[in-house]
Amino acid sequence: MQGRKVIITGVPGVGKTTVVNEALKKLKSEGVEYKSINFGTFMFDVAKSDNVVQDRDQMRTLDRAVQKHLQKRAAQEIAKVTGNVLIDTHASVKTPKGYLAGLPEWVLREIMPDTIVLVETDDDQILMRRLNDETRARDKEGSRAIGEHQQFNRSIAAAYAMITGCTIKYVINADFLLERAADEMANVLR
Ligand code: AMP
Ligand code: MG
Repeated sequence: MQGRKVIITGVPGVGKTTVVNEALKKLKSEGVEYKSINFGTFMFDVAKSDNVVQDRDQMRTLDRAVQKHLQKRAAQEIAKVTGNVLIDTHASVKTPKGYLAGLPEWVLREIMPDTIVLVETDDDQILMRRLNDETRARDKEGSRAIGEHQQFNRSIAAAYAMITGCTIKYVINADFLLERAADEMANVLR
């Protein structure tokens, strides 16, 4: 059987990686395996070898043309991976010059996902999670701006569905309800 390709998105700090890891643990016991790929890591590897950044959180401030170049190279590499593939990335990236589509047409045509998941929660919960995460250089913004970003991601996801015919799934990762989010994510993946 041909593998499934599922793209996981969500604004920084919403807890995509945590939900995915919990869901994958559940699925492993059922014999369902996914290769877990981080789009940003693929981009960062290219960026480091091209010597354009030292930190992954610097990439979103690079010139738009450079970001698109890194994005395209990452998509080409990811497209080569076979089997069930789960790709942790962003529906849109907030740059100093506005939102950059995370999955523009040339990325979607390489990957052709079956489903795009949007991990979401209340804007103020995301704000608190960012303030408590010292491991990353998260954007400093208020809950209104976070809300706008989440809204923009819903809109742009609809465009992605039009290009690929993929399904769009919202998974809510609310405080104290990680278990529920992981169950919903597992249902999408199985
Ligand atoms: P993350 O670790 O998921 O926050 O990703 C780190 C960085 O990788 C992001 O801040 C973006 O600069 C970049 N990135 C990840 N996915 C994409 C994408 N699909 N398109 C453009 N940039 C991306
Ligand atoms: Mg992450």
